[in-house]
Amino acid sequence: MSLRLLLAVIAALLVATPALAQTRKVAVTFDDLPYQAADAQLCDPAQAMALTRDFLAMLKPLKTRATAFVNEHKVCEAQRATLLPSILDAWLAAGIDLGNHTATHPNIHRITAEAWLADVDAGAPYTAAALKRRGKTLRWFRHPFLFTGETPEKKAVMAEGLKARGYTVAPVTIDNNDWMFAALYRKAEAARDKAQMQKIGEAYVTHMTTVLDHFEPYSAELTVGRDPAQVLLLHANSLNRDWYPKIHALYLARGYRFVPLGEALKDPVYALPETWVKKNGVSWLHRWTQAQGRPVRWEPDPPEWVMTAYKAL
Ligand SMILES: [Zn+2]
Repeated sequence: MSLRLLLAVIAALLVATPALAQTRKVAVTFDDLPYQAADAQLCDPAQAMALTRDFLAMLKPLKTRATAFVNEHKVCEAQRATLLPSILDAWLAAGIDLGNHTATHPNIHRITAEAWLADVDAGAPYTAAALKRRGKTLRWFRHPFLFTGETPEKKAVMAEGLKARGYTVAPVTIDNNDWMFAALYRKAEAARDKAQMQKIGEAYVTHMTTVLDHFEPYSAELTVGRDPAQVLLLHANSLNRDWYPKIHALYLARGYRFVPLGEALKDPVYALPETWVKKNGVSWLHRWTQAQGRPVRWEPDPPEWVMTAYKAL
């Protein structure tokens, strides 16, 4: 083979590789619908619909096949019956599946498992109805704060209660504190501080890269070197409205395909035992690692300046 031909073959391979390389899978999830925003915004129909429309306009060209989790009582009671169906219909029309994230996002450490399950039930009616209008059923559940019970007894009552109601728990593998960046971003946005918004957004993308650097090899330890399908936890907020496309591009560049949650959960890793009963909400990768008797290795924290600024909010 001549050098010129060899170079041509190499060039062709380099061009062809990206199209063939999307062998990893990720299911994207957005929590805390309708939006992480001030209560007043969510109770004003025009503002709440505008937040929803802008977020969905961002998502539309990306074909995320995402699932989003609703806190129905984030919308004021007076507006709920008229506003929430429109918001949820907009998400479903954009091709996003919906799940229950409880009515009020309660902290299980402060209430009984029975009260928590009542909040699960209170969080279902509008989401179930919106899905039903499209011939679908409410199936997914995401734990607020990823708290799954701090005692074995509470954990069992919660898990059995969810199962009895027909829910499938949506685990998270790529946990990342996006909400911390988002809270700072919201403040900068309210102050119309464009330079600060840019600084936070860039730090967020860098952080999400370091988190993925951590979780990819860590997760492969559970699957004997194979890349398991990941579930990425994000939140519906102005930070992701402006910066999610960069996160999406990051995953594409790492060889991921965006798959529905149900497809990701078919990966055998999601059948591993999970016995976490501590008072914190953590990635399922840590739960499975701990259940195997191996040491947990925590993902990187956000940069110090972000954590300090968040604590000062
Ligand atoms: Zn949440």
